Amino acid sequence: MTEHTKTDGLPADASIDRGLPDAGLPTQDTPAAGKVVCNACPVLCQISSGRTGACDRYANADGVLVRVDPVVMLRRVLAETPGAVVPFLARSPAAQQALVADPLARQDEVFVTGIGSSTTYPDYKPAPFIVASQLGGVDMVTVVTEGIFSYCSLKVKIDTDRWLGPEQAAVRCRGEAVGHVTTAEYGSQMLSLGGVHHLTGGSKKEGRVTCDMMEALANQQPMELTIDGGAQLRIQSARAPWVNGVEEHRMRVGCGSATVGIFAQQFLGQADEVVVVDDHITGVLTQHQAGKCLDMRPSGIRIRGRRSTPGRYFQVALPGTGWGGTDLDDPLAIVEGWDPARAWPGLRLLMVSTTGEQAAWYELDEALVPQPAALPAGVAAIVERIGENCEPSTTSVLFLGGAGGSLRAGVTDNPVRLTRAIKNALVNVTCGGAPAYVWPGGGITVMVDVARMPPRSFGTVPTPALVAPIEFSMRLADYAALGGHLDAVRSLADTLAHGAWHADGAPRSRRMLDAPDGQRWPIGSSPWLG
Ligand code: SF4
Repeated sequence: MTEHTKTDGLPADASIDRGLPDAGLPTQDTPAAGKVVCNACPVLCQISSGRTGACDRYANADGVLVRVDPVVMLRRVLAETPGAVVPFLARSPAAQQALVADPLARQDEVFVTGIGSSTTYPDYKPAPFIVASQLGGVDMVTVVTEGIFSYCSLKVKIDTDRWLGPEQAAVRCRGEAVGHVTTAEYGSQMLSLGGVHHLTGGSKKEGRVTCDMMEALANQQPMELTIDGGAQLRIQSARAPWVNGVEEHRMRVGCGSATVGIFAQQFLGQADEVVVVDDHITGVLTQHQAGKCLDMRPSGIRIRGRRSTPGRYFQVALPGTGWGGTDLDDPLAIVEGWDPARAWPGLRLLMVSTTGEQAAWYELDEALVPQPAALPAGVAAIVERIGENCEPSTTSVLFLGGAGGSLRAGVTDNPVRLTRAIKNALVNVTCGGAPAYVWPGGGITVMVDVARMPPRSFGTVPTPALVAPIEFSMRLADYAALGGHLDAVRSLADTLAHGAWHADGAPRSRRMLDAPDGQRWPIGSSPWLG
């Protein structure tokens, strides 16, 4: 398996764009001499001996088509007493040795993931692993496969108030449009990346760049992106985002109005007016209901922007990377003036951002002009507490894929029954062992946090599409009821000993990982077992 290139296995002049074997190309029935044909995706690579196919996932090993990567298995963090979990390394040496020597000794402690399992494509055959196990006296089965997802995307949540770009603006990778900015959420900006239109509906380059970008982010790698009319980003799953070259540290404690409400009681007596600057909802304490309930004296401050309700202002400035996600460097720019009938010389004003990273203290002079002054210790402590209440800023990458298509045929000969069984909570769906959320409505649209999946869970094929692991766990009786491939159900030990995919039945190599701490065990965590 040395000496190969990304396109080693491609049929000469094959058009990856079309993703179908061209008329006139050698077919599976007539491979060129010394080559084997891989039909694990529509590209149908012809692979020379000792080389891999275009995706590097399959190879010709002495005339036999093999899946290159090991099957990834998860080893359970043991629950030796009800409610208690014991990590592998915390077990007795004898218990560790026993499990290493025979990881299959307790089948309820080992879970076969779809990572490296191989696929069902072209979908007429059962899934590569249909594994029987027992759990608390109940016969279980897990159907394991790698799905080829042409319909898939990444939803990326970036914990920052900083302006990333206008909603609907294109997100680019290496100059190609690979997604767009979608709705801002509470304390976070959201991107929608990938999707079938970028993968298949644009140019060949757009599809390839999109696919590479999705694979990298899904595999928890860093990625640099630019937003039309907006920021430059460096993002990575479960890491702090970088916006225009600056690392983000804090997620805001709340919007400006919420921050006013949360800390109103603490500000009482310490400041005469507090303005929490926020690109979305700037809060003004003495006008806000919180200040009114505390009988705070109106300060007479006039704020620019559109007043929504008392003490809550929209559009006080343009969005940006300054105070509270605005373009402000000087917070006083949003103070239009003071009502001389209400304001008074010596009035103490705090202006603070929603993360507490910026704060300024002023006192009104005789002409009711704010003059900067040192932040009093009591106020500084509240500002510090605002910061303390901010969670660390991070990036969440969720893979969203449609599994309601042909891969269901690898589970059952009556695919709609799998869909119904999932909707009826009879089937637990996981991706690489990580819990997957199944969207309501039609189809099997699953969403999973890639940070909960083992590293390098994703691959690609040049059609282009992503390859992602997926597992369906259920009671054996329910599997039978939905028309499952009962003839293909095998014990875990038997499956691994004889290989579930290799054409010659050779054993599959495997990689054993500890299940992540605190992650729900994929088998037996559904409503049917309590
Ligand atoms: S690109 Fe497709 S046909 Fe080629 S080796 Fe990979 S899975 Fe097989």
